[in-house]
Amino acid sequence: MRWTRQACVALDADDVLGELRGLFILPEGRIYLDGNSLGPLPAAVPGVLQRVATQEWGEDLISSWNTHEWLQLPQRVGDKIARLVGAGPGELIVTDSTSINLAKVVSAALSLARDRSPHRTEIVSERTNFPSDLYVAEGVVRMAGASLRLVHLDPAGGISAAVSDVVSDDTAVVLLTQVDYRTGRMLDLAEVTAAVHRSGALMVWDLAHSAGAVPVDLHAADADFAVGCGYKYLNGGPGAPSFVWMHPRWAAAARQPLQGWLGHEQPFAFDAGYRPAPGILGFQAGTPPILSLAALECGVDTVLAAEPFGGVAALRAKSTALTSMFIDLVDERCPILRTVSPRAAAERGSQIALTGDVDAYALVQALVDRGVTGDFRAPEVARFGFAPLYIRFVDVWDAVDRLAEVIDSEAWREPRFAQRAPVT
Ligand SMILES: *Cc1c(COP(=O)(O)O)cnc(C)c1O
Repeated sequence: MRWTRQACVALDADDVLGELRGLFILPEGRIYLDGNSLGPLPAAVPGVLQRVATQEWGEDLISSWNTHEWLQLPQRVGDKIARLVGAGPGELIVTDSTSINLAKVVSAALSLARDRSPHRTEIVSERTNFPSDLYVAEGVVRMAGASLRLVHLDPAGGISAAVSDVVSDDTAVVLLTQVDYRTGRMLDLAEVTAAVHRSGALMVWDLAHSAGAVPVDLHAADADFAVGCGYKYLNGGPGAPSFVWMHPRWAAAARQPLQGWLGHEQPFAFDAGYRPAPGILGFQAGTPPILSLAALECGVDTVLAAEPFGGVAALRAKSTALTSMFIDLVDERCPILRTVSPRAAAERGSQIALTGDVDAYALVQALVDRGVTGDFRAPEVARFGFAPLYIRFVDVWDAVDRLAEVIDSEAWREPRFAQRAPVT
C-alpha cells in the first residue's frame, strides 16, 4: 500500500484511541518514538506528586503510612497492572527494580524446581536476552551452585520445537523476555510456556517490553513467574519500580532470598526471625518508594484509560497498524535501510529495529536533532517504539519523512552526530 500524509491525517481523525494522547504532556514539535525505553510524562503526574509531597509527606508526615495507605500502595498499583497482564487481584506486586525482581524470581523458581527434581540444576536463557537478565541469572547460579546455559532459539521449525531442542533433563528454569529489546521479536507466551512445562522446567517471563503494549494473559499461558518494567509502556517515570507476579500454585512453597522486613508476615512485630508474608507479599523487601509509586499509578492509569475503547487489544491493533505503516514507508523511501524486526505483525512487539550501511548511532542522533527521538542499540540497530496511546499515524509519516531526508542528504555523516553519549 502506498501511503500519503493525507491518508495518515484521515486515519488519525477516525482513531477512537486518539483522544488518549491528551493524557500526556508531550514536548511541542517532537515525535517521541522512545516510549519503549522511557514513557512520556502523564499530565496527572505533576499534580499528584505535588499533593503527595506537600499534603501527605509535608503535612501528615509519618501518619500517612496509615491514613493515606502508603503501605498498601504496592498492592493497589499491582492490582491495576494485574488487569493488563491477565493476573488475578492480590497476585502481583510493585516493588524494587526489574533486575532485583529477576533475582528474586529466578532464585525462587530454581529452588522450587530443585525441590521437585534435585538433578535439575540449570537455568536456560537466550544469548540475546537483555544483558541485565543474564547478569542477574549469572549471579543467582553462582550463589546457588547451579549453572546457566545460553542458547539460540531457532524459530524455523516452530517455536515449540525450538524450545524442546534447547531444554534438557537438567533444566530447572527457563528465563525469557517475551519481546526482544533489540529486534522486537515476540514469543508466544502460551506456546513457549507449554513447551517448557512439557520438558519439566519452570517458566519465568520478563514482560519489560510487553506490559501495556501487547495483550498478555499470564493465567491462560499458565506461566510460573513474571516480572515487568514500570517506566516503559506503563509510563511510570524514570526508575519507576517494577512488578513481580507468581502463579498462585507456588504461593505457599516459594521463597525468595532477599528477605527484608516488609516481606515479613508481621513487619511491626519486629521479630528476630523471618516468617514470609503470604504469597506475592513475601516478594517485597524494603520500604516502598512512595513518590515513585504515586507517579507509576498515574502511568498505569493512562493504559487503563484505554479500557472503554477496547483496552490492550485495541492498543495492540493500533500499534501493529503503526509499525506496519512504518515498515512500508521505510521500504519505499529509505531503501538502504533493512528492517530487522519480524515483518509478520503477529511476531513482533510495538517497536521496529532498522539497520543498514549507515552508522546507526549517528543516524539516530541526526534524527533527534530534527525532532524525532528514537534510540540506538549496540552494535548496529536504530530502534523506534510506537506507543499507541500517544503516537499518531501522521507522526509515522513525518518521522519517515525526516529519516529519508537524513539519509538522502547524508546529514548523519556530520561528525557531531558520531560523538557517543554515555546513554545511547
Ligand atoms: C528495560 C529492561 C530491564 C530493566 O531493568 P532495570 O532493573 O529496571 O534497569 C530489564 N529487562 C529487560 C528485558 C528490559 O527491557
